[in-house]
Amino acid sequence: MHTKTDSSIQSSAEALRYPWENHPGPDQVVEVMPGVLWARLKLPFRLNHVNIYLLADGDGWAMVDAGFGNEESIAAWTTLFEGPLKGVKITRLIVTHSHPDHVGLAGWVTERFTCPLYMSQVEYLQSVYHQNRGTEERRNAQRKFFLRHGMDENLAEQLLSRGQDYLKRVSILPPSYHRISHGDEVVIGTRRFKVITGGGHALDQVMLYCADDKLFLSADQVLSKISPNVSVWAVEPEQNSLGEYLFSLASLTTTLPYDVMVLPGHGVPFYGLKTRIKQLADHHEERCRLIADACRHVPQTSKALVPVVFHKHTLDPHQMGFAAGELIAHVNYMLVEGRLTSEVADGVLRFRTT
Ligand SMILES: [Zn+2]
Repeated sequence: MHTKTDSSIQSSAEALRYPWENHPGPDQVVEVMPGVLWARLKLPFRLNHVNIYLLADGDGWAMVDAGFGNEESIAAWTTLFEGPLKGVKITRLIVTHSHPDHVGLAGWVTERFTCPLYMSQVEYLQSVYHQNRGTEERRNAQRKFFLRHGMDENLAEQLLSRGQDYLKRVSILPPSYHRISHGDEVVIGTRRFKVITGGGHALDQVMLYCADDKLFLSADQVLSKISPNVSVWAVEPEQNSLGEYLFSLASLTTTLPYDVMVLPGHGVPFYGLKTRIKQLADHHEERCRLIADACRHVPQTSKALVPVVFHKHTLDPHQMGFAAGELIAHVNYMLVEGRLTSEVADGVLRFRTT
């Protein structure tokens, strides 16, 4: 009888809850708990914002993620540092991963506050890689990758033309950084955070967990309402990024308690981490099931599978680029799991359900 009562308490505690109905406005910061502040900067995409967190750190604050590297983000920070954050000193910048909405203003923040940058080694080097990626050889490798997955020259060219402006979206990366690695303990003010890293969305994304306050900064690994992009790119055509992502989700489920407050990189803070993780894993399994059905009788290319999974026949090049990358992540995962086999004809890959 006790067991029953306990499990019902636990299951209601595992329900998704969002303690804040409203996100901070452009001239506001929200106190999540004493010594933890939440700010939100606009992004020029359909995903239209990124969350930034500030953690009390002695006589100043540690900043987690910097925002997108454009003039609007600099103006937004200026508004905050002249308003609710007036006189605030940033002691250090921790960047969770190399995507431009998170690392974009790292150079600007560290220069303005003369503070150090903390990142995982892989994410720092990945940022360096992205800053230098526009070479002709890499474009050719990317083109061949798209053709191999069933796209025509025209579509490949359209996809190649996007994403070439990474440099315009980031300030110059600081030339040195402090490495943080999975399992490290980082003391920030009076709190001790365990560093957890995970793959899938980025190569080695940093998350921070404070056991005493049951506080989990999940970066983009576990988002409150959307499913983080999990893709494969030409630089590592056989990467099992979905396998890495699901592995990371499973390990978060087993290592963290169920009642942590989650502070994600996009969306709003929430409770119900394990419920959310289950939803995300189920979402990917559903996509795998659709792919398996479509490849049961006739082998299919990744290009042909995009509308099967994304239920949309016209995607603009930006959407198509992400959709193709996500699709290939599912296909690669299913190959590793033995759920698909691949065959090549005329240089084009096709997949068949086993
Ligand atoms: Zn992000």
